[in-house]
Amino acid sequence: MFQDREIFVRTGGHVKFVKLSAKLQRRIATAFAAAFLVLLTITGVAVVRDMLGASERAELAQQQAQVDAAQARVAAYRNRVGEVAAELDARQTYLERLTSEIRGTRVAAPKPDATAEQTAPRKIGALGVKGVLRNLFTLRDRQNDYAVALTETVDRRAARAEAAIRNFGIDPQRLTKQPAALGGPFVAFRSEGRTVGQMGASIVRLDTALIRMERLERALVAMPSARPANVDMVTSSYGYRRDPFTGAAAFHSGLDFPGARGTPIHAAAAGRVSFVGRKSGYGNVVEIDHGQGIITRYAHLSRFDVKVGQRVATGFTIAAMGSTGRSTGPHLHFEVRLNGTAMNPRIFLEAKKDVLETKAVAARRIAELAGTQNGQS
Ligand SMILES: [Zn+2]
Repeated sequence: MFQDREIFVRTGGHVKFVKLSAKLQRRIATAFAAAFLVLLTITGVAVVRDMLGASERAELAQQQAQVDAAQARVAAYRNRVGEVAAELDARQTYLERLTSEIRGTRVAAPKPDATAEQTAPRKIGALGVKGVLRNLFTLRDRQNDYAVALTETVDRRAARAEAAIRNFGIDPQRLTKQPAALGGPFVAFRSEGRTVGQMGASIVRLDTALIRMERLERALVAMPSARPANVDMVTSSYGYRRDPFTGAAAFHSGLDFPGARGTPIHAAAAGRVSFVGRKSGYGNVVEIDHGQGIITRYAHLSRFDVKVGQRVATGFTIAAMGSTGRSTGPHLHFEVRLNGTAMNPRIFLEAKKDVLETKAVAARRIAELAGTQNGQS
């Protein structure tokens, strides 16, 4: 490749021969190659260094992004913890109140400073936000289990009340679906910020069951099963019979209790006095509205002991026996009406012991509830 060469060099009219030996040429070429290699190496290192820097920066940015994401996740968890804790707190308050409703006594709501919402985020510590959240979810599961158990209890109670009502010869469907007359204890819960629907399916089911139980138990309590007078009744007096005045067959819509004039007359169930006065044929009459479409009527009275609008408990003395109106002698004419239709009062007065026990349990709960409500207002 390299050969000895002679090069003509012309300077100022003179021509010179310069001899370039192969050896010299090789040296020059080697020097150039070496210089190029050095240059190449320097450039390469710079390029590689540059590339490394870029990847490091990318890695750093990626790490930063991961940290940001993690922080965002933690912040989200923290918010979630707050939300879940607040939700649990609302449900807990609700469940406690419902439990006390079922027992017939109301308890004060837990103090705000003890709520999970306020304590949970401060106690995160060693558990970590995730751990706290996990605990809260466990708590929520337990609440759900509790709500389900409570619903079963309520359903059992409602079924007992329903069976008792049927024992009085009444189809519960026929009862007036009037809203829980005495204040409607469940209404208050719904106005406390959260609707029942927001508290989950188990709470909605419990709420529905409770409303049903409440309606049935109030209806059961309205059944007029207490004796209106402490004298013997003419057991066959309800139904078709010979009219004592005309001698013709006529429907007699009540039970007769013959007794001495002035014998005290008692409310057959708790309720509100809805009529005091005269009605043709009936003479002096007192009527008591027991709710759910049930009223009792007491006729031929000689004296009134109550006023319209007055609330009376079972057994309360409302009047005295007499013989006013179409009457052949002192006696109480006692009627039970469901949505205006006369029913045989014997069914109510001769109720079985277990039915009366179920009624007494329901009456106790409603009375205690009414008592605590009155005490609060
Ligand atoms: Zn009569």
